[in-house]
Amino acid sequence: MSVVNEFIEANHIYAAQFQKGSLPLPPGRKVAVLACMDARLDPARILGLEEGDAHVIRNAGGRAADALRSLIISEQLLGTQTIVIIHHTDCGMLTFSDDGIHHKIKQELHADADHIAFLPFTDLEQSVRDDIAFLQGSPLIPDSIEIKGFIYDVTTGKLHTVN
Ligand SMILES: [Zn+2]
Repeated sequence: MSVVNEFIEANHIYAAQFQKGSLPLPPGRKVAVLACMDARLDPARILGLEEGDAHVIRNAGGRAADALRSLIISEQLLGTQTIVIIHHTDCGMLTFSDDGIHHKIKQELHADADHIAFLPFTDLEQSVRDDIAFLQGSPLIPDSIEIKGFIYDVTTGKLHTVN
């Protein structure tokens, strides 16, 4: 069975028990979580979030520059007041360079992606600090927004605060 057919089957079961159809649009806990798309990381379970609690924005690495559009909408239109950034151990973003992926795309796709910054990093804690600094320095993110950064350990399930 194709994975898509499995999803449709799973959704029938989910919808049959669904009871959260009247939640308000703005996140109840007024928070936007920015996390890596890594398949081992489930922000809702890691943080104890329920439907309606938070915006969860995910991309490769959980990079802030790639999430700015969504964060602005989250804050300006939907009232979130805190940003939580989660990067994690064993992240794929530690394994390549911009030059490397640009070269690979030329080889594999015969296309040019040199204008895309893929935002890999070599230092996990520094990547979190860089993203906090990026948001704090952006005129599009007001100073009133609280920004916290964490590293999630995929081997223990624990979050570590990055200061
Ligand atoms: Zn990752």
